[in-house]
Amino acid sequence: ANDMKDFVPLYASFESFYTRNIYNRIQDVFNRPICSVPGPVIDIVERQFSKSGWMFKYTGKVLKNVVNLGSYNYLGFAENDGPCAEASIESIEKYGVGVCSSRKEMGNLDIHVKLEQKMAEYLDVEACLTFGMGFATNSMNIPCLVSKGCLIISDGLNHASLVLGCRLSGAQIRVFKHNDMKDLESKLRDAVVYGQPRTHRPWKKILIIVEGVYSMEGSIVNLPGILELKKKYKAYVFLDEAHSIGALGSRGRGVTEYFGIHPREVDIMMGTFTKSFGAAGGYIAGSRALVEHLRYHSHSACYATSMSPPVCEQIITSLHIISSTDEGKRRIKQLADNCRMFRQGLKKLGNIVYGNDDSPVVPAMIYAPTKLGAFSREMLKRGFGVVVVGFPATPIAESRVRFCISAALTEQQLQDALDAISDISDLLQMKYSKKK
Ligand code: PMP
Repeated sequence: ANDMKDFVPLYASFESFYTRNIYNRIQDVFNRPICSVPGPVIDIVERQFSKSGWMFKYTGKVLKNVVNLGSYNYLGFAENDGPCAEASIESIEKYGVGVCSSRKEMGNLDIHVKLEQKMAEYLDVEACLTFGMGFATNSMNIPCLVSKGCLIISDGLNHASLVLGCRLSGAQIRVFKHNDMKDLESKLRDAVVYGQPRTHRPWKKILIIVEGVYSMEGSIVNLPGILELKKKYKAYVFLDEAHSIGALGSRGRGVTEYFGIHPREVDIMMGTFTKSFGAAGGYIAGSRALVEHLRYHSHSACYATSMSPPVCEQIITSLHIISSTDEGKRRIKQLADNCRMFRQGLKKLGNIVYGNDDSPVVPAMIYAPTKLGAFSREMLKRGFGVVVVGFPATPIAESRVRFCISAALTEQQLQDALDAISDISDLLQMKYSKKK
């Protein structure tokens, strides 16, 4: 067969050049093989990175009880010994694991319908539709909502799944500066008064696409500002709550609750179950008309296998705990306390931290891409697993370590992590000042 070297040229773009020269040398900090639940501590299969051939050698050892500062297990529901696991195991006994069909065909389970009703009740909206994959919830549904002749105005830091959905839709795309209401308004003004007479609107629909909490930045959307502009310019709003549902607001209802805004003010409420719910899949919630439209037109609803039963049951149980028990309230509060303690701790050390104080995503800046590998390796040596990110997920000179905080982490674990980070930040010159 062809060796495919021409098919996948290594130096075809800046991105492939960069990947080859930077990331290949620090491959050991990515794709680490984990052999446990993604809870507050994880077990990692040990590999040694050969200097000669860019290959791994497995040592046969397992690094046990590494403190996990990278998974999106915000409320600690990933554990396999709690109430969620019990319900999921029972569901496997009843339904099996695979649904083997799409919702429209043989894959519409009673528990899918139950989950959608519960989710709509939780958000206090008319209806909800669930999908087997969060990424596809964005990439496959946005093309169902807007098309040629429509305008999308998208935040500059939107997730890849949103960007792909925008591109697939065929609509015109304009990007506004991250969370910058002035820039958004100028894009909206251009769109509405474009052409003559001044009131002429050349677009069938204008859709503003934003996230609740931005996954690399840890910032929280200026939702009141977005909704004001949406009304003023008669646009629609699509809100991705992947990182905010469950994690923000006193009952975990996300950014709408955080700002004291009713979810019905937002036209399209999207979210994933991969973070706070410790499961998989995504949802779109809103009016009955919106959900019925997606049910019959969405590629993800019509042509993809529906959500696996144990996953669905895990979400039903975690949603119940979040929405109607004291244990849910306790976890949400614990997450908020842990986020503040860790973020304040980093700032006190003199690290540069991006984002909002209430966000469970805590990015600490490393800047130089060449320090990414060293930071991650030094943390692992001290017993902490972290996620380092750089280009193209961030601008090239804004490489960072992206901590994700969980309610399941103890104060001691977070304090030990801060001590380790302090040492390593000194070693790698990441601090801008050392505050007392
Ligand atoms: N939206 C956002 C904002 C995300 O950060 C992610 C992934 N982390 C997704 C959508 C995709 O969701 P999933 O990982 O559940 O497929």
